[in-house]
Amino acid sequence: MSAFYHRCRYFFLPLFFTSLLLAVTQYSLPKLQTWHSVIEQLPFWLLPVVMIIALQFNRSRLAYLALLLLAYCYFLDQSSSTTLFDRYPQQIFLAGIFTVTWFAFIKDRGLLSAHGVVRILGVLLCFAAAFAWIWGNTQYKSAIDNYLPSMITMEIRTLAPFYLGAMLVFVRGIWQANLVNTAIFITLALWAIHSLMPELLSVSVSITALAIVYILTVLTDSYFLAYRDELTGLASRRALYNLVLSLGRKYSVAMLDIDHFKKFNDTYGHDVGDQVLKLVASKISQVRGGGKAFRYGGEEFTIVFSRKDTSSILHFLEEVREIIEDYDITLRNEQRKQQTKAKRGKAQSQSKTVNVTISIGVSEHQHGETFEQTLKKADQALYRAKKKGRNQVCV
Ligand code: GH3
Ligand code: MG
Ligand code: MG
Repeated sequence: MSAFYHRCRYFFLPLFFTSLLLAVTQYSLPKLQTWHSVIEQLPFWLLPVVMIIALQFNRSRLAYLALLLLAYCYFLDQSSSTTLFDRYPQQIFLAGIFTVTWFAFIKDRGLLSAHGVVRILGVLLCFAAAFAWIWGNTQYKSAIDNYLPSMITMEIRTLAPFYLGAMLVFVRGIWQANLVNTAIFITLALWAIHSLMPELLSVSVSITALAIVYILTVLTDSYFLAYRDELTGLASRRALYNLVLSLGRKYSVAMLDIDHFKKFNDTYGHDVGDQVLKLVASKISQVRGGGKAFRYGGEEFTIVFSRKDTSSILHFLEEVREIIEDYDITLRNEQRKQQTKAKRGKAQSQSKTVNVTISIGVSEHQHGETFEQTLKKADQALYRAKKKGRNQVCV
């Protein structure tokens, strides 16, 4: 999966769908008058559900954010505390910005561990920092005005942590595109809209949307955890056996194995081996002819061609084999640090290219055969390919 495609899929797409969801909800809100009281109450029901699901799947940052939002909704509901929000709107806005920005850069840790205490102290510190920032800006206003150019107004100075936080969380979301980082960026964006342009979105709609984003994030994330191979990004063996349930009578299976990979690991190190495994997997996943690729385990891959006989797919497998054989893999210096000193020698300053090859065994499903039996035949064909000298496709 290319980096661009990955970012679109995990960052821009969720962002787009959340905006669409919000726009549709906000637009249809006047038509949902009878549901108004239900919508008002939704955050109180959804946020505890988020907390339970997020904790179950070890996504403690989302659980904390849900807890903070729940507390916010609760205080907002209490007329006595409304005055607090009215009196310190900027401080509370910035405290939220500090907290969300900080959350974007920490790891998910157990809620009920020592890390839990650090998280609570951290949130309190974010509040203290927000109050201190506003206090400092007001207290030393004239001194700062003399020091800074006039174009940097008091408002810009007050909002500076927000601009910085938004930029950091955005870059983080793009750089390390995953659903949790995207959910955190969406939280920051909605918090800013809620505080700076309150008339744009009602608070219960934004918090309900956030709760839905959190639930979908946790569930989609755990789906990927179960059905995607973490290293290569390919579908996992579990996904392969899921696909088997939907296969018809006619299909072909290919088993692929990298040649002499153990030796490759011994020569260049396991980390370089992992990078090569990723490259090979990405080439395999681009197989044509409607093949679906899986990481079967280790350096072995499976491709399933639904509704295809062996003769019609040999060409596509041969193509994959050739692409991998011809692909010059450049070893960067830091990768080559894995090599032993003796092997590095004088070539250290130059970049070096290496090649790997794969062997492929193919078989076609026959009437009355189970998937395991077809797979076994493909494995036996793979064994023959290895015996015959590797880097070839055998039926
Ligand atoms: P052959 O041509 O007969 O396949 O030789 P081989 O050395 O590739 O033999 P085999 O397939 O039995 O070796 C598997 C090796 O693949 C062992 C292990 O070093 C390596 N390997 C398996 N999984 C991983 C992985 O996730 N990362 C890395 N770096 N290496 C792996
Ligand atoms: Mg193997
Ligand atoms: Mg091998």
